[in-house]
Amino acid sequence: MTAETIRSLTNEEISLIRKEFPVLQQKIYGKPLVYFDNAATAQKPDAVIKSLTEFYSEYNSNIHRGVHFLSQKASDAYEQVREKVRNFIHAESESEVVFTRGTTESINLVAQSFGKAFVTEGDEVIISAMEHHSNIVPWQMMCEERKAVLRVIPINEKGELLTDELEKTLNSKTKIISVVHISNSLGTVNPVKKLIAQAHRREVPVLIDAAQSIAHEQIDVNDLDCDFMAFSSHKMLGPTGVGVLYAKRKWLEALPPYQGGGDMISGVSFEKTTYNEIPFRFEAGTQNIADVIAFGTSIDYLQSLDRKRLLFYEHQLLSYATERIKEVEGIRIIGTASEKSGILSFLIKGGNAMDIGMYLDTQGIAVRTGHHCTQPVMNFFKIPGTIRASFLFYNTISEIDIFIEALKKAARLFHKK
Ligand code: PMP
Repeated sequence: MTAETIRSLTNEEISLIRKEFPVLQQKIYGKPLVYFDNAATAQKPDAVIKSLTEFYSEYNSNIHRGVHFLSQKASDAYEQVREKVRNFIHAESESEVVFTRGTTESINLVAQSFGKAFVTEGDEVIISAMEHHSNIVPWQMMCEERKAVLRVIPINEKGELLTDELEKTLNSKTKIISVVHISNSLGTVNPVKKLIAQAHRREVPVLIDAAQSIAHEQIDVNDLDCDFMAFSSHKMLGPTGVGVLYAKRKWLEALPPYQGGGDMISGVSFEKTTYNEIPFRFEAGTQNIADVIAFGTSIDYLQSLDRKRLLFYEHQLLSYATERIKEVEGIRIIGTASEKSGILSFLIKGGNAMDIGMYLDTQGIAVRTGHHCTQPVMNFFKIPGTIRASFLFYNTISEIDIFIEALKKAARLFHKK
């Protein structure tokens, strides 16, 4: 991406965007809110909030099973979101889009169903050293159950994946690789397309944890050629409690159901149950209908903006913050990969991350402190946690200036030489 070919957002455009996010309008302790916790969850535009209210006040109804007007309307709206997701990630077919509760459930679904179908004693599963606990624990649980081995591709001091190690780790026992696209604690963007091609040369399928990248990249599952992809609506301006498992048709058809219950069957008797077609086979019970519909509105919202420009602007925010933070005494940036997106993790020498986070809070600045559900990353860097500022396109350069000035004060208060 170059400045010549992509125009960044103008101040006017940013302030128009910001007006659509009610949460951003408020003051915290008398100071304008600076929301830098977008990697944990993004704020919601008016349209998404309205969409939830509309569902409950106008056509609340259960889906797929009703013949009446409201149920038809709710079913149509719900299924339209499947098409919106398909289009957003460039999947071939809507039947490759399964609604789940979020990234975590999507990964658990694959770990359990794939494990049952394809993993036996002595087989191997590969993940990386920078995974979120959601992309570690489900595989660990499955490997324990099936007596398989979990293998880990290491990272270097910059927080980059040692991709050459993948080649050494892959072998005839490897059954699946699951790797994060953008690290939520380091901001590293992994070269997933290359990794997928490498795995496919050995016919090993790959799951991409896109929890962070779904908001910060233009995702094309066809181009990436990933077998599975997991992401959450709440990181891309939609509601919590909804997410997606994208899976190539051949995999969804080969996997056993994850949960049993209503809607996932085609016929039930006490002797035998036959399962519904994909993707419904993987959506047991009443789904999170209202939130799926509002998730669709968040996709409409994102699609209504020029995403190339948004992403370019986000890169500028990160570069600016990364440069300016160097002015803070005792600063140590954790995660200095050459490809980064949206996330700035750091420590102030001698200062406790929690104390600094709490001080920033008194200034109306919301950041996250701690291990960010990536304890192995923290162990690698031999630190208990970091302070993490994470940006989205509604953030501004002047918010970063406020943040840097507050950090300088925090450094004076807490920094021990
Ligand atoms: N993976 C990554 C990289 C994440 O950032 C997160 C959320 N912090 C998750 C997985 C889990 O997502 P969720 O809690 O929405 O299921």
